Amino acid sequence: MMEVLRQQLIDTALAMNASGLNQGTSGNLSARCENGFLITPSGMDYAGLLTRDIVWMDLDGNTRGTRKPSSEWRFHAAIYQHRAEANAVLHAHPVNCSTLACLNKGIPAFHYMVAVAGGKDIRCADYATFGTPELSEFVIRALHERKACLMAHHGLTCFESDLPRALALAIEVEHLATVYSQILAIGEAEILTDGEMERVLMKFGSYGKQDI
Ligand SMILES: [Zn+2]
Repeated sequence: MMEVLRQQLIDTALAMNASGLNQGTSGNLSARCENGFLITPSGMDYAGLLTRDIVWMDLDGNTRGTRKPSSEWRFHAAIYQHRAEANAVLHAHPVNCSTLACLNKGIPAFHYMVAVAGGKDIRCADYATFGTPELSEFVIRALHERKACLMAHHGLTCFESDLPRALALAIEVEHLATVYSQILAIGEAEILTDGEMERVLMKFGSYGKQDI
């Protein structure tokens, strides 16, 4: 079982880089498992990853395996601690999410799909040095009632109920960041009303779920 999840983690990491979301080894991915989570190792090229390179950790940061975990393991652990519904966490430095994040800008409701992250906007977490407990605190705050946030001067973090959904969410948020960046370059964004976003969020309650 753990072997299957380790392989799924590698496959999703490869798909993340192939999608253009991430360059090199700057991103990291994890998946909840029994008594902890599995996470990509620090600074290793995804292309050569073997299942034994994936690191097992508990939520206190104890590791098992031969590799060092991603330097961002702290906020992965914090998300699993604070959000029971999180089974997969993805972190990357996509170009357009990072562009907005470097301006300390979140993504307002300029497009109804902003609701995909769970609310009326996608926040930008305050800046703190990578790998620090302070950064975990800021990410958890920005993710309040959300599944995705930008991170100031850094990138994107999101979580979902499984790895494929986490990747799909990250791709959607990067698309929104791309369109929003273009809007800021040529004009001013028009923001949907709270009432409209509430309607969209209601509809998203059943979005993508087929009736059986
Ligand atoms: Zn990072």
